[in-house]
Parts: sequence; C-alpha cells; structure tokens
Amino acid sequence: MSAAAPAAPATDVQTHGNYIAGEWRPAKSGATFENRNPANVDDLIGHFAASGQEDVEAAVTAAAETAEAWRNTSAIARANILFKAADLLAARANDVGRELTREEGKTLKEGVGETTRAVQILRYFAGEAQQPSGEHYPSINPLTLLYTVREPLGVVATITPWNFPIAIPAWKIAPALAFGNTVVFKPASLTPLCAVRLTEALAEAGLPAGVLNLVTGSAGAVGDPLVRDHRVVGISFTGSNAVGGALRTIAAERGAKLQLELGGKNPAIVLADADLDQALSHVVNGAMMSTGQKCTATSRAIVDRRLVDQFTEQLTDRIKALRVGDPLQADTQIGPVISEDAAERITGEVADATKAGVPLLAGGHRLGDNGRGRGYFVAPTLFGNVDPTSRLGQEELFGPVLGVIPVDGLDEAIAVANAVRFGLSASLFTRDLGKALAFVRGIQAGIVHVNSETAGAEPQVPFGGMKGSSSYSREQGKAAREFFTQTKTVYIDVPPAS
Ligand code: ADP
Repeated sequence: MSAAAPAAPATDVQTHGNYIAGEWRPAKSGATFENRNPANVDDLIGHFAASGQEDVEAAVTAAAETAEAWRNTSAIARANILFKAADLLAARANDVGRELTREEGKTLKEGVGETTRAVQILRYFAGEAQQPSGEHYPSINPLTLLYTVREPLGVVATITPWNFPIAIPAWKIAPALAFGNTVVFKPASLTPLCAVRLTEALAEAGLPAGVLNLVTGSAGAVGDPLVRDHRVVGISFTGSNAVGGALRTIAAERGAKLQLELGGKNPAIVLADADLDQALSHVVNGAMMSTGQKCTATSRAIVDRRLVDQFTEQLTDRIKALRVGDPLQADTQIGPVISEDAAERITGEVADATKAGVPLLAGGHRLGDNGRGRGYFVAPTLFGNVDPTSRLGQEELFGPVLGVIPVDGLDEAIAVANAVRFGLSASLFTRDLGKALAFVRGIQAGIVHVNSETAGAEPQVPFGGMKGSSSYSREQGKAAREFFTQTKTVYIDVPPAS
C-alpha cells in the first residue's frame, strides 16, 4: 500500500451561517463549530452555525409561513428553479466536488462524481415535477367527474448523513420542493459545507425566501427539536438504525409521515461458474470504494466452497494492493474514514473478531506513516472464513471491512444472505440465467444486482431496502412522489338542469 501525504492546509477559512427565510444568518446564540478534513485534521475547512432550538423554531416558522404560496406556485415554475440550480451546481461541480472530498474523505473522482450526480438528481426531479400526478377514474354515475390529485404534505424535514453529503440531500430536497413542500434541512455536522453549497445553488436559482431552510448543528440541539415540531408533517431521514428506531417512535406518537433509509449488511454471492475477474473487481469496489462507508457497500462475500480458496487468495492480493492516502491526490484509491471515533470503533471491532479467532487476511490497523498520522486512515481489511451468525457476519461496521463466508451452492448462499436483520442491496455473480432468476426471487433486498456490485443508485429508479434497512417507502424515481405527496380524491357533479 502506497500513500501520499495529505495536502497542505488551506488558509481562507470562512464562517457559514444558517439559511432561514431567505437570509444567511448566524445561530441566534452566535455559537459555531469547526469542520476539519478527515485526511488531515490540521486542515480547517470552515466554521458553521452551532444552532439550537430557537434557530429550528425560526426555520420551521419560515417554512410554515411560505407553504401555502409554494404549494400554489405552478409545478412548471418549480421545475425551472430546479433546472437553474442544476446548471449552477454543474458549473461548480469541480470546486464543490473538491470541497466534498476535503470534508468527507472520499476520493476526488468520487467527490466530483457525487456532485455531478446531485446535478442529475435536480434535473430528474425538475422533469418529474412536470409529469402527470393524478388519475381519472370512471364513476358509477356516468356524469360524475372522478379523479385524484397529489398534493404536497406541507413542511418537511430532511435529515441527512455525512457519507453522501450532497447526493442524499439532493435526492430528498429536490422531490420535496418539486412536489410543492417547504423544507427544513438538517445535514450531518461532519459535512455541513456540501449542505451550504447545495442550498446556495437553490437559493441563487430563485427559490423564494422560506421555501428551503438550512439549519446546521448537532443531532440533539437541531435534529431533536426539528423532528418534534408539530408543524413538520413529514420527516425523511437517512442514517443509523439506532436513530431511525428513535424517530419511528417520535413520528408515530405525533402522527408525522416518516421515511427511513438505514443500514445494510450487503452480500455479494459468488458462484462457482462466475467470471472470477469480474466478481473480484466488483467485490473489491463494492466493499472498499468510499472507504466502505456506503449503506449499499458489500460487507459479506458469500463464496461457493469450490472457488473460495482461489477467490480469497486473489481478493487478499487486490485488497492489499489498494492505495490508501490523501483523497485529493489523483492516484489514491481509498481515503480516510470519517472521524477518529469511526477509526477507533472499526479497529476495535476488528480486534474483537481477531481475538475470537476469525482469520485476518489483510489490514485491520490504522495507518500513520507517510503523513497519514494526521488523518483517520484504516487499512482495507479482509477476514476469511467468517461465521455468518457472528457479530462480524451480522452487524454493519460502516468501514473498509469485508468478510468471506464459504457456502455450498446457491440455496445455502441465499439462506445465509437473508439471515440478517437488514435487506438493502445484494449481488450475485454467475453465468447461469436460471440461478440468477432464482436469486432475484429469493433474496430479501430492495436493490438487487446480477454481475455488478451492491453499491450504486440511479436517480430514475426507486431506492430503498427491505426489513430493517428502511421503512418500506422508497426514495428517488417515481417512488419519491409517494412520500412527498398525499392523495386527494375529487368527485365533481353538476346540479340538475333547471
Ligand atoms: P451518521 O453517523 O451515519 O450520519 P446518524 O444516524 O448518527 O448517522 O445521523 C444521521 C443524521 O441524523 C445526522 O444529521 C444527525 O445529526 C441526525 N440525528 C442523529 N440523531 C438524531 C435525533 N435523535 N433526532 C434527529 N436527528 C438526529
């Protein structure tokens, strides 16, 4: 594994406020928090508003006061603003992508790629806003005009994680706005700059004051009052299962509509007839790109016993060869994990599994040489012969850690793949069409791949998981309209002719 020293710290450190009622303003308390580069903690990226209940209150008030006017704005006008925001963000994609890499730690290619994806999402929902949104029905009375319309919910909260700091906010905020809702946006505290950049693009594109409000700050001080505010009728959340569980209770108690995208323990099944090279490269990419910090990352390679030794040997070589270092350097393949806490948690889990006798084949330790000591670098990690019922086989580690689980054939592979509480994404590598179709039928996952990696989401199709990975609703594509609107059924009759 080679490495390049992280870039020299930048000097122009700015302070960014909240965006409330069309104004950039500091937290009412004046408090701020720092945002630092996970590849190099000496690189201070910016200061951000450390908001509290009074800022949330102001943001929800702004969103509530403008809800009626925004709902009555034509869908075409709303679409035009999203198209313009997409153009503004597209023109800035290289700069914003670089900032994304500096605050999140994924490689520059991934940072620019994610920003470009946010542009595509804005464009997709600008188009979607202009699609038909209700249905016309026959009535028992032939003269009755009977139809449905989809109306916005009102004020919605979008609460987002740090691992896709611009794409996930875009895929919640764009449909929320396109379908006529007003939004209070609470991004993860670890990646507030991307949230500022997305909000800037939408504000500059002409979004009326109060339609989108950004409030930065901690989960306790911002997220909690936001989800408890009775004026917030919809909550779209992506993050951990622990927080998702708490939100289920809060939303149920006060009758708010809730959408959850949570974790995964995503399997890649490799059958004996798979194209070995294809399976290896997709398993490595699925497990290790973005430092394994995707909810759709591959964390279990479930491999046919006839192939497992050969597969594991080659997998070990490929994982050991990954270049881990400063994600701003062009030849880096794997950046840091997001935080010191994450690095310690992941290496702690690895140590526990090793102590329990699971064979550690690659990585497992922190990397501190070649300038990496100022960041949160964890060597890409591979375990062989993982017990599928063990903690390593069951729990999401959210880092660059992959475990190989040997099985005898497809039926056992599917049974093992399904024997977890999650069901987000899954992939199968085979040349056998019958086995592929049996896998598609039998696997409990919301996103299913045959001969491609578990990660990846295109904006025009539904995204979401089964079982503990979501709340049954889906994001993106046409499915987004389901969450961000409600149905009104209309019967129109005319008085009898006099
Ligand atoms: P992650 O660490 O992957 O970002 P979390 O579930 O901790 O996952 O957080 C996801 C988002 O939810 C973040 O913006 C976080 O601040 C917010 N959040 C965390 N806890 C709560 C809570 N109790 N109420 C509302 N928002 C929360």
